[in-house]
Amino acid sequence: MTRQAAGQATRGTGLIGQLRQQARPVELAVDRLRAYYATESGYVRAVDDVSFEVRPGDYLGIVGESGCGKTTLVKAIFRLLPDDAFVEGEVRLDGRNVLAMTPIELRRTRWTRMSLITQSAMNSLDPVYRVGDQIVEAIRAHGEVSHDEAWQRAVEMFDLVGLVPERLENYPHQFSGGMRQRAIIALSLVLQPGLIIADEPTTALDVITQDQILGRIRRIHEAVSASMIFVTHDISVIAETCDAMVVMYAGKIVECGPTVGVLREPCHPYTMGLRNAFPNIKGGIGRLIAIPGSPPSLIDPPRGCRFAERCPFATDRCRDGEPPLQSVGTGHSAACHYADQAAGLRERAKEKSTWDEVAVRIGLA
Ligand code: SF4
Repeated sequence: MTRQAAGQATRGTGLIGQLRQQARPVELAVDRLRAYYATESGYVRAVDDVSFEVRPGDYLGIVGESGCGKTTLVKAIFRLLPDDAFVEGEVRLDGRNVLAMTPIELRRTRWTRMSLITQSAMNSLDPVYRVGDQIVEAIRAHGEVSHDEAWQRAVEMFDLVGLVPERLENYPHQFSGGMRQRAIIALSLVLQPGLIIADEPTTALDVITQDQILGRIRRIHEAVSASMIFVTHDISVIAETCDAMVVMYAGKIVECGPTVGVLREPCHPYTMGLRNAFPNIKGGIGRLIAIPGSPPSLIDPPRGCRFAERCPFATDRCRDGEPPLQSVGTGHSAACHYADQAAGLRERAKEKSTWDEVAVRIGLA
């Protein structure tokens, strides 16, 4: 579907035109970002030297298992980490480093330049206020807008996300999970941000609602041209929605590039394993193959490749030295010492016996 057709297919076309004019897509550059949590046992290196870019209008997916650092990365971009977290590097939004902003600059930037759709919509809405009032308050906190004008904008936003305006009068507990998530999307769009980050926005929803929300987010992205980052543990969701993707493992980027290229010809064994583990990627037939084992401790991560313990192709070289993220094709990079042999590894990674050997090696079979 063309961008224009997508815009026409989405309800609230007049508002979309307005959003498209006002929401200037931003460029995000994350540069050598580290974000460590302080614990009694030491720092947890949840995000460790991560760099990537989102160009204006891009739709980027970030995928990885639970605990790989995805949500910490999002919180670091938004400066939502606890005060005792160690954060280093740069997060540049149209060239301005978010990590160096004053509290006032940060307040002006959040929601107007970048907004967040979270995992748990229920926690994002105040249970004691009507949903409409919360949206009106968000609009009026950032500009000279009358209550009636703000309410009208909230009505249009609800229309855009497929909710009837009468629902603005309701409290969050009167909404279903899918409706709450739609309300959060409306809230995230209401100040016309140039970058929208969605962190596991559909995880708690049933499959049909999840599909509707994903479709709605995709159409809104196409219509308003904002830059988007979609964070998920489900690689098949990335395959359906994102133009480019980043694969994270144990706090690091292990592969990134155009979604089609990364999924058709993954060059990192972890991505090969993820591809085996989701039905839509495998075409719905054939047996799914899990990656045996679990990620390493991020308090004291291994000094070589962090995937080595679970990797069927690991050698002493992998355990001794960390593989750098290096180019393997146009816009496509992978952090594997044997990325140049990826074609052969991909064939072997399709076999269940390959991963069964890992389970035996690490004592799980
Ligand atoms: S560097 Fe070695 S252990 Fe790491 S993914 Fe590549 S082959 Fe596997």
